[in-house]
Amino acid sequence: MDLFEYQARDLFEKHGVPVLAGAVATTPDEAHAAALAIGGKVVVKAQVKVGGRGKAGGVKLAIDAADAREKAAAILGMDIKGHVVGKVMIAQAAPIEAEYYLAILLDRSNRTFLVMASVAGGMDIEQVARETPEKLAKVPVNSNHGISKLEALKIIQGAQFPADIAEQVADTLVLIWKVFVDEDATLVEINPLVKTSDGRIIALDGKVTLDDNAGFRHLDHEALVDQSATNPLEALAKAKDLNYVKLDGEVGIIGNGAGLVMSTLDVVAYAGEKFGGVKPANFLDIGGGASAQVMADGLSIILGDKDVKSVFVNVFGGITSCDAVANGIVQALEMLGEKATKPIVVRLDGNNVIEGRAILNRAAHPLIQQLDTMDGAAARAAELAAK
Ligand code: GDP
Ligand code: MN
Repeated sequence: MDLFEYQARDLFEKHGVPVLAGAVATTPDEAHAAALAIGGKVVVKAQVKVGGRGKAGGVKLAIDAADAREKAAAILGMDIKGHVVGKVMIAQAAPIEAEYYLAILLDRSNRTFLVMASVAGGMDIEQVARETPEKLAKVPVNSNHGISKLEALKIIQGAQFPADIAEQVADTLVLIWKVFVDEDATLVEINPLVKTSDGRIIALDGKVTLDDNAGFRHLDHEALVDQSATNPLEALAKAKDLNYVKLDGEVGIIGNGAGLVMSTLDVVAYAGEKFGGVKPANFLDIGGGASAQVMADGLSIILGDKDVKSVFVNVFGGITSCDAVANGIVQALEMLGEKATKPIVVRLDGNNVIEGRAILNRAAHPLIQQLDTMDGAAARAAELAAK
């Protein structure tokens, strides 16, 4: 999960990383009140999870609270690279003397953690990496050792930071390593890390990505989720403990096992080419078990997706036998009753397939069509969706 800047700021503050006063606002009036509380000049900053807000006009200096209200009114509702601004952060303004870059990230391709530090801060770091790679220091971190003050100092000196601030920047690096580890982050980035005219080092803009896989040991991270950006179907599925991802096609997909579901998506997309480019509408892995309740939950979420025109249930019976899955489908349709309205193509194979298919044949549900092969079923589901 990517955090908003104001959430990153709060996390930094919690761990002692130097930041300036800041508060989030969703209306010009709230912005006014926040600016009054902070006092003096403030910066009004669009809170969107995309870079380059500054260049897009989403970061504006305000001379006082009244000005902050006006700037907030201009920024709220703005569209920045497809993200509509719903919140602004009111941040105490800083007299900037120099801008630097500092980050720790999970470097997946090299299977290590990596510190990146640059004296060319404030700008797009990808551009720095491309055009002046000598200005971007990249130092892998031994996760068993972490980053001591001494190591931090070496990294910062190696990255050519001025001597008078090296100590403070090194302290900041040690602190963001602590943020990275303690919060189970995969990215902690400060751009810019600034030197103010009175010689202080401050994190002016933060970007943090938290590792959702570690969510179980950070129950407080749940509160950081942006509910307004969560797809309602995905939220519903999450509440039912289903592995569901909304896609933008028309064929609802239910399968057991992530691998099978992934290949089902491919097969449906391929089959859909013949029917005007019909595509899968979602990923849904109901896993082993596949009880009637799980099947009903899955079906009801998929049938509730207004984009879905047909459903493809693709199950390979392993530990779960096909007869159990077939009974699950029949009972799920009984549970759903009137709510089940779209054609459902079922392909069962594997453990106890003969009995499974017989159960569906006996049920003779008007919405269900059975096919024996995955390709055949995918083609039928795509055809039904195209109608
Ligand atoms: P980004 O463009 O989305 O990365 O947004 P930033 O928060 O990094 O802001 C962009 C630029 O605005 C920074 O690099 C600074 O130059 C400038 N800026 C942000 N906050 C302040 C501030 O408090 N005072 C001053 N003078 N400039 C600021
Ligand atoms: Mn920035």
